[in-house]
Amino acid sequence: MTLREDRPEYEARVTAVSRVTPHMVRVTLAGVRGLGGAGMPEPGLADEFFGLWVPVPGGDSVKRYYTVRRRREGRGEIDVDLVLHGTGPATEWAGVAAVGDVVAFDAPRGHYAPPSDTTSLVLCGDVTALPAIGRILEERAALETSPPASIVIALDDPADRQALALRPGDDLRWCATSALVEETRRLCGGDPLAYVWFSGEAADMRAVRARLRRELGIPASRWTTMGYWRRDSERWAARFAAAGPELQRAIDEVLETSVDDETQADRLEELLAGRGLL
Ligand SMILES: Cc1cc2nc3c(=O)[nH]c(=O)nc-3n(C[C@H](O)[C@H](O)[C@H](O)COP(=O)(O)OP(=O)(O)OC[C@H]3O[C@@H](n4cnc5c(N)ncnc54)[C@H](O)[C@@H]3O)c2cc1C
Repeated sequence: MTLREDRPEYEARVTAVSRVTPHMVRVTLAGVRGLGGAGMPEPGLADEFFGLWVPVPGGDSVKRYYTVRRRREGRGEIDVDLVLHGTGPATEWAGVAAVGDVVAFDAPRGHYAPPSDTTSLVLCGDVTALPAIGRILEERAALETSPPASIVIALDDPADRQALALRPGDDLRWCATSALVEETRRLCGGDPLAYVWFSGEAADMRAVRARLRRELGIPASRWTTMGYWRRDSERWAARFAAAGPELQRAIDEVLETSVDDETQADRLEELLAGRGLL
């Protein structure tokens, strides 16, 4: 893993804003301009995401991560779906985003990569994962053949359900947030050639990752887990800051060692757990 420089590479203008469901706002970006002169970034993996610098009152901007829900290459447009979850710069901007707003972002990248011998897909997550799962299923629908998918999506409000590009043989369940980890655990381990993709709250992600990596010993090529957000992140950030620069140095050291991503993730988990930061 290499450390990325924390600055935007592209800029775009908001050309449309719509409400997909009660708690999901779709922002369409167009007129993408590379700040270094390049044009639209190349399309990436189906769960591609970028750091999006959203405007905050006072003229400044802050970075939060969002999925590229859809690209319309011919028109140079990108859709981003933002959950209205309460307070925070991004969710607050989503509530007031307007045509003409200018946002910046960095180069998209993604992780979704089922091996070619995959015989079934397990796609799970909470409402923040819905944009990625929606796109994964849409891209799969364009393929001639593709493995069937078991999908579990946790929602606090059933009104946030969306129509997804399902195929015969798929199994879609909507569940309560509190049931997500259990529902996901249940789907893991049945098919040795399954590919599992999970994204959601950090503690939920760790529980799913522990199941896949430690309990079931599934090779890392057959799953991807990502922590998309952290419950009570302000308290966590305060505790992280209180741990001092030595912790950041230890993290940088782990990130700079040349081991595979999963070993690196294990080491970071151990480091944070040792300081009560998990
Ligand atoms: C790779 C990746 C892709 C992502 N894709 C999407 C996407 O397509 N759409 C999307 O909506 N989100 C997505 N997220 C999640 C999004 O980045 C976070 O929810 C982010 O914290 C929102 O920023 P904020 O400024 O609204 O809140 P923050 O300032 O980060 O947090 C403010 C408060 O809100 C809480 N909080 C943050 N997120 C949530 C949440 N989802 N539900 C409940 N409480 C929350 C925090 O714990 C904190 O207390 C993605 C994250 C990653 C890492």
